Amino acid sequence: MNKGKLIVFSAPSGSGKTTIVRHLLGQPDLNLEFSVSAATREPREGEVSGKDYYFMPLKEFKQHIKNEDFVEWEEVYRDNFYGTLKSEVERIWAKGKNVIFDIDVAGGLRIKKKFPGETLAVFVKPPSIDELKIRLKKRSTESDDKINMRIAKASVEMATAPQFDTIIKNYDLEIAKDEAYKLVKAFVGPQIR
Ligand code: 5GP
Repeated sequence: MNKGKLIVFSAPSGSGKTTIVRHLLGQPDLNLEFSVSAATREPREGEVSGKDYYFMPLKEFKQHIKNEDFVEWEEVYRDNFYGTLKSEVERIWAKGKNVIFDIDVAGGLRIKKKFPGETLAVFVKPPSIDELKIRLKKRSTESDDKINMRIAKASVEMATAPQFDTIIKNYDLEIAKDEAYKLVKAFVGPQIR
C-alpha cells in the first residue's frame, strides 16, 4: 500500500484545533482525509456516527482494545474513551490520501512515536487558560462540571507542547489557519491525485 503522511493536530479542548483541521480539509491540494475516531461519549446535537466519530458503547470499545484494533486509545475524560482504529488509517491510505487527526495530546504523541518518519505533530496553543474558559463557555456544549474538567486537563496538556514538532499559536484564527496550511503543504509536498 502506498502510505500517505500522518498529520496530527493536538491541543487542549477549546483551543480551536477542530476549526483549523476543518479549514485544512477544505484545501484539495493537501489531499487530506479526516481520521474518524471511535468514541464512547454521547453524540452532541448534529454529530453523525461514521462522520464525526464512530460512536460505540464502552463494551464494544473494550473489545477493540482486547483485539488490539487501535493505533492508540485514551480515556481522555473520566469514562470517556477515544481511540484511533488501525482500520481507519488503512482505509484512508488505501485511497492514496494523507491522514489528518484531531486528537488529544497523549494520543498525538503516541502516533508520532509509532510512525516517526511519516508524522507531523502540531500543537495548537490557545492564548491563555482564561481565554480557553471563555471559549468553552461560549460553545456551551458541555455542563459547567465538564468545562471545569477540561480546563483542569488543559494546564497539564499545555506542558506537553515542546514534545511536538511544531506549535501554532491560535491568537488570531485567520493567521493560525494560514500558518497551518503552509506547514502542512510543506510537509506533504506536491500531491499526485
Ligand atoms: P470531544 O469530546 O470534544 O469531541 O473530544 C474530546 C477530546 O478527545 C479532544 O481533545 C479530541 O481531540 C480528543 N480525541 C478525539 N478522538 C481521539 C482519539 O482517537 N484519540 C485520542 N487520544 N483523543 C481523541
